[in-house]
Amino acid sequence: MNTPNQQFFIHCPRCGQAALQPDTKKSFACAACQFVFYLNCAAATVALILNEKNQLLVTRRKQDPFKGTLDLPGGFAEPGEGIEQSLIREIKEELDLEIIRLEYLCSFPNTYPYKSVIYPVTDMAFVCQVKTFDTIKARDDIDKFYFVDLACLDTALFGLSSPKKIIEHYRGISTLI
Ligand SMILES: [Zn+2]
Repeated sequence: MNTPNQQFFIHCPRCGQAALQPDTKKSFACAACQFVFYLNCAAATVALILNEKNQLLVTRRKQDPFKGTLDLPGGFAEPGEGIEQSLIREIKEELDLEIIRLEYLCSFPNTYPYKSVIYPVTDMAFVCQVKTFDTIKARDDIDKFYFVDLACLDTALFGLSSPKKIIEHYRGISTLI
């Protein structure tokens, strides 16, 4: 069995021997001591935030992976956090916006390469309303932000795959409304 991370997961974290081998597509097992390490999907959020002109808030990534490409705001849930709580926290941290309403839209699997490890991710998208845009600023891992007409948005400018799919999914729904 081949997994994307097998060249970096070699030594067992329990016994230290170079006996770790891919077990399932999300786990490694130690042939020496039977320890099993799971690399489960990380839960992550993506926010679709539209202004009064129905333009979508799009960000530019300040850091790798995919530094300089377009993205949608959001991020990884922290241990002990609910997914809505995680989204509210991320949008406050990244843009200083306060979400007052959110509605689940869809989810897509994603992979997030970071310092040699490819993390499996489940991205969950929500359509969000914010209290006001008056406070907005780019901070944390966001370099810049833009409000873009959905119809004009070129999804090829996005680095990560799931924001593209989420936008395309949302466009598909928007034309039905
Ligand atoms: Zn071991």
